[in-house]
Amino acid sequence: MAAHFLLSLAYAASSGGVVISGAGPAGLLAAHAILSCRPDARVTVFDRRPDPRTASSVGARAYSLGINVRGRTALQHFGLWEAVAQRGVLSSKFFLHFGSRALQLRANQPGSVPTLLISRDALAAALLDELQARHAPERLQLRLGTAIQNVDLRLHQCTTAFGEVIGYTDLIGADGVNSAVRGAMHEQADGFAASVCDLPGRYKVFVQPCPPGLDPLAVHAMGAKGYSLFSIPKRGNELCTLLAWRDDEPFAGRADHEIAAAIATDVPKYGAPTLAALAQLRAQQPSKATTVRCSRYHDPRGRALLLGDAAHSTGGTLGQGANSALLDVLALDALLRRGAPAGESVVEAVGEAFSAAQQPEGLALWQLLQLPPRGPLRLPYTVAQAARGLAASLTRALPQPLRVRPPVQALLSESTTPFAQIVALNRAWVDAALRGAPAERHGSGSILPFASPQPNGPPAAAAAAPTGTRKTG
Ligand SMILES: Cc1cc2nc3c(=O)[nH]c(=O)nc-3n(C[C@H](O)[C@H](O)[C@H](O)COP(=O)(O)OP(=O)(O)OC[C@H]3O[C@@H](n4cnc5c(N)ncnc54)[C@H](O)[C@@H]3O)c2cc1C
Repeated sequence: MAAHFLLSLAYAASSGGVVISGAGPAGLLAAHAILSCRPDARVTVFDRRPDPRTASSVGARAYSLGINVRGRTALQHFGLWEAVAQRGVLSSKFFLHFGSRALQLRANQPGSVPTLLISRDALAAALLDELQARHAPERLQLRLGTAIQNVDLRLHQCTTAFGEVIGYTDLIGADGVNSAVRGAMHEQADGFAASVCDLPGRYKVFVQPCPPGLDPLAVHAMGAKGYSLFSIPKRGNELCTLLAWRDDEPFAGRADHEIAAAIATDVPKYGAPTLAALAQLRAQQPSKATTVRCSRYHDPRGRALLLGDAAHSTGGTLGQGANSALLDVLALDALLRRGAPAGESVVEAVGEAFSAAQQPEGLALWQLLQLPPRGPLRLPYTVAQAARGLAASLTRALPQPLRVRPPVQALLSESTTPFAQIVALNRAWVDAALRGAPAERHGSGSILPFASPQPNGPPAAAAAAPTGTRKTG
């Protein structure tokens, strides 16, 4: 404790740099961006969890994800793609399994760059290694295993879980769906609104060697009565599998051998999970997916900025969370390079332009999550999307004006079309989905697209959105 107090005094004296709360994809790439485009900047990155390079996650935190062309574009911009890609598996192959039958929905197309399948920890580890290789310790401090607990936006200070008070010139909230920075903005910033909602259903994660019945270089979606398995390959012939369910937890109270036998019967291609995989399931509490929407992503007075899941989350359900988090940083970098003089606060210089560019994107992604429409329009939508997918692949080789636009999922995962544009292209379906969405999927308030303030008034969206809109659970 005494050591922490001394550290606190020493640190308080030397603070004043950019503080990043959260060492996930958004926070670490933001550190890369700020250090590389502001030679005067000092950055300190805090994360409540320990360094993923020395303490790898187990259970729900051990999940893998897919980095598509969006995330790849951002990583390439910072010269990080090769370093990250070598920690994962490159493959676009996707199989949908029905009992013992399999339907291949995507293949590795010659000439196209496949999706990078990588554990979130491996992604963070690669970004951390590159940060330390590129920047001197005088400019970069890593405080992994230290949570930001309180933020005083008025005094530009935050307090860590060890009681250290840290002053900042800018505070980047990249601390995920339960962001402490967003919490502070909710309580202290004028006209800021956020909606936080849990999606129905729960999941657990387990990792084991790839079963012999499955292609070790493909993603596999496997349905069973009452639950599903979604497997993503990892390096070293392993699969990271999400066991997801909507209503009652499958196998609750059953012995390991019964669970193994049930999965082997329900999902024959997967077969019985290993004893180690069953132990991972037993040791885990079910996790939930949470969505986040905010009326803006910056607070000029508090010099705070939100990135990634802290600002917008679809709970991992669309496969765009990490991709869009990385794109947030690409947008931030472009703004910083265009107009943020050295020494000036990042948020004061570009915060508003950042909200104007990225908040409508985050909101559009949440709207796309509401698809397909519920009720009688669900089937027509599904048929229309399948027909569009077929027509798009048949016309792919034709000149651009003759090509059929791909379906929503392909635009999301195989293009860099802005999310707001995908919504505009599918306006009628999205409107129908929003009308039919159950109240809890809307959250408890309307969050509108951010618009820059009028000369004499507050931001239009912030003025229209109810403040204090926050629902959890
Ligand atoms: C099962 C699952 C599958 C997914 N699949 C995909 C996919 O295929 N493609 C995709 O693009 N996205 C996917 N996602 C979503 C993706 O993981 C997230 O959107 C992405 O990690 C967001 O990055 P982030 O840096 O904003 O937040 P996070 O990755 O959540 O990182 C936030 C960090 O902040 C830290 N933190 C939290 N509170 C504090 C605090 N008070 N102080 C300091 N540190 C704090 C946390 O420990 C964490 O390390 C998936 C998510 C899940 C759960």
